[in-house]
Amino acid sequence: MGDSLNVNINGKSAAQNSYDAIVVGSGISGGWAAKELCEKGLKTLVLERGRDVKHLKDYPTATMGSWQFPYRGQMPLSFNKENPLITKAAGFDDTTDHFFIKDKDHPYVQEEPFDWIRGYQVGGKSLIWGRACPRWSRHEFLAPARDGYGIEWPIGYDDIAPWYSYVEGFAGICGNNDGIESMPDGNYLPPFEFNCVEKDVRKKIHAKYPDRHMIQGRWAQLTKALPVHLEQGRGQCQTRDKCMRGCPFGGYFSSNSSTLPWAEKTGNLTIRPHSVVHSVIYDETKQKAVGVRIIDALSNQPIDYFAKIIFMNASALNTNLILLNSTSNRFPNGLGNDSGLLGKYICHHNYRGSAGGTIEGYQDVYYYGRRPAESMMPNFRNFKKQDMDFVGGYMAFMGAYRTRGAEASVKEEIGGEYKDALAEPGEWGFYMYIQGETVPKESNFVALSKEKKDQWGIPLLVTNVKYDSNDELLLKDFLTQSSEILDAGGVKNITTHDNHWAPGRDIHEMGGCRMGKDPKTSLLNGWNQMHHVKNVFVTDGACMTSTANQSPSILYMALTARACNHAVEELKKGNL
Ligand SMILES: Cc1cc2nc3c(=O)[nH]c(=O)nc-3n(C[C@H](O)[C@H](O)[C@H](O)COP(=O)(O)OP(=O)(O)OC[C@H]3O[C@@H](n4cnc5c(N)ncnc54)[C@H](O)[C@@H]3O)c2cc1C
Ligand code: SF4
Repeated sequence: MGDSLNVNINGKSAAQNSYDAIVVGSGISGGWAAKELCEKGLKTLVLERGRDVKHLKDYPTATMGSWQFPYRGQMPLSFNKENPLITKAAGFDDTTDHFFIKDKDHPYVQEEPFDWIRGYQVGGKSLIWGRACPRWSRHEFLAPARDGYGIEWPIGYDDIAPWYSYVEGFAGICGNNDGIESMPDGNYLPPFEFNCVEKDVRKKIHAKYPDRHMIQGRWAQLTKALPVHLEQGRGQCQTRDKCMRGCPFGGYFSSNSSTLPWAEKTGNLTIRPHSVVHSVIYDETKQKAVGVRIIDALSNQPIDYFAKIIFMNASALNTNLILLNSTSNRFPNGLGNDSGLLGKYICHHNYRGSAGGTIEGYQDVYYYGRRPAESMMPNFRNFKKQDMDFVGGYMAFMGAYRTRGAEASVKEEIGGEYKDALAEPGEWGFYMYIQGETVPKESNFVALSKEKKDQWGIPLLVTNVKYDSNDELLLKDFLTQSSEILDAGGVKNITTHDNHWAPGRDIHEMGGCRMGKDPKTSLLNGWNQMHHVKNVFVTDGACMTSTANQSPSILYMALTARACNHAVEELKKGNL
């Protein structure tokens, strides 16, 4: 620990290692920070712990047929045994495994079970995300303080709405403008179509429940490539639903297809892969952060880089880890951590509940293509006021699909009869699953292990995050309501299911370095700027004051673009 700069520049001069801005991490939020800062003329260094992944060139499975994989896309059992964590991730298989970590390479300590799903490479999880992009409504910014389960957000919907529009336009988000208050309209490309069963089911649901809307998903998919997308080198989505392999058309938004190449074109971007960020360097005389210390993942050498502003975008829990590891005489418990709350109030999404059933009829109809998006049902609980025995809301993903004939009619998955049946369409099915808000609590936290370190000498992250009775009540309500909603929609043979997943597998971890008005109860101000270290901005999930019920990444993009704009204005004024 020490405030003085014990500089590690490995032969290069400090000037050679100096930039206007440093961005830690190159995933969804880091890609946006890089684009915005480079476009505004800042020489920007992006430090990424993983390997480089170039758009198109590094998508080895993108155009492979399932018959070209030795196990038709499944992983060998030995791999599954050695990787019990990462093989649980949605979409993980032999077609996508190169974009996920291996368990043994990146250990952490689970004081309570927590499935920490990660993708360490240039592009981060932007290559493998599900791409759902609903907006928060104004009420989710108000609910935690209003209903007494959180602190007040320092910003509201009107502060972020123009930035939502801005990032939606560039990234390319499709969806319908449905005029629903709990999931506001946006700057959308044309929506995907409902299939014939969905059209009928949604009409029936709406007839019984006028406040429960089944709408087409808002998704980061180019249903139509506008000039701004063509300029990025991207084209229209071909509805093949192989997105998590990397898309040769650039049909979905990723850092690799969109923000990073755009930043590169400005001539202001330097990306340094294999750079494991160890800590942020704080200079007590200057009373600000002056750079970032990395360990080169290949040579194991520490190197320091310097910049006027630093954006933390390593993904929620890694940003917490780095900040907790950034100790100095001024901040002995982690950067900017006067409140002692860094690492606390970790929250996530409740993904435990699902419901499904069968649909009779419609045997003579099918659908075109493999739509890479789902329908959504915006939240209808505790909206505008708390009227349930739990706090927070939930949304749902849903849709109708047709099984293959083989699934119902053939018992043995082998032989000619099975092959023939595979080519025939089977029954229609309908499903629904929850994405529920969880309550940010001080007792849900991450910390640094005092004993254990990784191969680069950085303390391991300790996770201590649990579901609580509020989550159970919210889940119970969803299971009852989803069953009733499906029944209203004409779905038969309905079953509901609690998968009892541990937190983390929902892949929407948030908090630990939350925004707020009061430095005593938060780490960041309304511009995502550390209250006590003004030239450090945290714009990934670590900044979240509460989770709401909507998928979070489009909000991280909007917050990042907004914070970059503010940072550059402050730099110009000489305030940073
Ligand atoms: C299967 C799956 C489906 C998902 N579906 C959706 C969805 O539908 N909608 C949605 O909104 N979200 C979804 N998400 C979540 C989404 O991927 C994340 O919210 C998003 O990627 C977060 O962006 P980020 O920039 O914070 O982190 P990431 O995209 O993870 O990027 C962080 C980057 O930082 C790097 N890094 C980490 N530590 C260090 C370090 N010490 N030094 C240097 N670099 C470091 C990482 O390697 C990574 O490249 C999904 C995630 C998964 C895995
Ligand atoms: S569905 Fe669209 S975005 Fe996904 S891989 Fe196919 S073309 Fe690309």
